[in-house]
Amino acid sequence: MAEQKVPILDLTRSFREIKPEVFSALERIFDAQSFILGREVETFERHCDKYLEVPEGSSVGCASGTDALLLALMAADIKPGDEVITTPFTFFATAGAVARLGGVPVFADIDPVTYNIDINDAMSRITPKTKIFLPVHLFGQMTPAEGVIDELHGRGIKIVEDTAQAFGAFRNADGKILRAGAVGDIGCYSFFPTKNLGGCGDGGMVLSRDKDTADRLRRLRVHGSGTTYYHDEIGINSRLDAIQAAILDIKLKHLEAWNEERRRIADYYRLLFKTNDLQEFVVPPAELEGNYHIYHQYVIRVKAKRDELMQYLNAEGFAVRVYYPLSLHLQPCFAYLGYHEGDLPQSEKLTREALALPVFPGLEAKEQEALAESIAKFFRK
Ligand SMILES: *Cc1c(COP(=O)(O)O)cnc(C)c1O
Repeated sequence: MAEQKVPILDLTRSFREIKPEVFSALERIFDAQSFILGREVETFERHCDKYLEVPEGSSVGCASGTDALLLALMAADIKPGDEVITTPFTFFATAGAVARLGGVPVFADIDPVTYNIDINDAMSRITPKTKIFLPVHLFGQMTPAEGVIDELHGRGIKIVEDTAQAFGAFRNADGKILRAGAVGDIGCYSFFPTKNLGGCGDGGMVLSRDKDTADRLRRLRVHGSGTTYYHDEIGINSRLDAIQAAILDIKLKHLEAWNEERRRIADYYRLLFKTNDLQEFVVPPAELEGNYHIYHQYVIRVKAKRDELMQYLNAEGFAVRVYYPLSLHLQPCFAYLGYHEGDLPQSEKLTREALALPVFPGLEAKEQEALAESIAKFFRK
């Protein structure tokens, strides 16, 4: 193992900036001894409304991104046997939430350029049982779904966006700014510590611009109760806590700068691949026209010897990782869905080629340079 160590993510570097503010918020919360929902959560939710440019009251904090998906699917009235069209190239929770509620995940293949769901393939998989379309804004880049929303609604299908990796991402569609999570019917966010807006524990949020849906989500997160001890429907216990909300509220003020820094890091990797003549070996992630990619992850394609490269880089002290090594349609837990190898070739190909490089606020140029040189050394040795 080489001396030099570049982690895949180092949260200590950005925490230094906000430490005094975080500690004074913690003192305020402990003095008040009010820990669940309450004023801190409401303040953060209203700031999210503003940041995401949605009507006041749209943002609803909850306990995790996984719960955000469960709550959204419940509010979209998913029933056992309903089909939900989604991507197989994502974190497990996306499809796991569907199956947990008795829904049937229907996987469409991905677009090889953006790694997001291929919208045309998704549309071709609609059946009379399709109830929900669930795109994921993977690695920080939006799926351009705005063009199919009217058609989906016309066919009685709701759009739930998995925005766990894309808080603050947006796209400019013919001059109209569309914010990730605020385009479809319900957006789902995660504040898991490693996300680009992350707390100091689990946390999440659901968002709906429709007031009735937002009110229903607010009830569903407290056991379906509108008035304490009176239950309109069966919900779950999924609340954001005051400590998470206060810390997230502090981080939200820095998010734009941090997302900008991620974009600068991405630009620099692209340049380094050129200056090191790596184009024939690796493909940098593409930003779709109009998209503001926030690079929650920086995932390249390695055309050959991905696993060997990963081992080599890890041994050289660079923490690189594979997101994701197995497409969801081939996971053992989804064998009952009947998919086989070869069914979704683009997703399967990417599981063999994807490699995530370090990207986080505070990553230094010299660390990126050393990594690029190491990649060059591997391919030329
Ligand atoms: C992280 C993540 C989730 C789940 O969020 P948790 O807060 O960890 O429950 C869901 N979907 C995607 C795409 C994610 O990356």
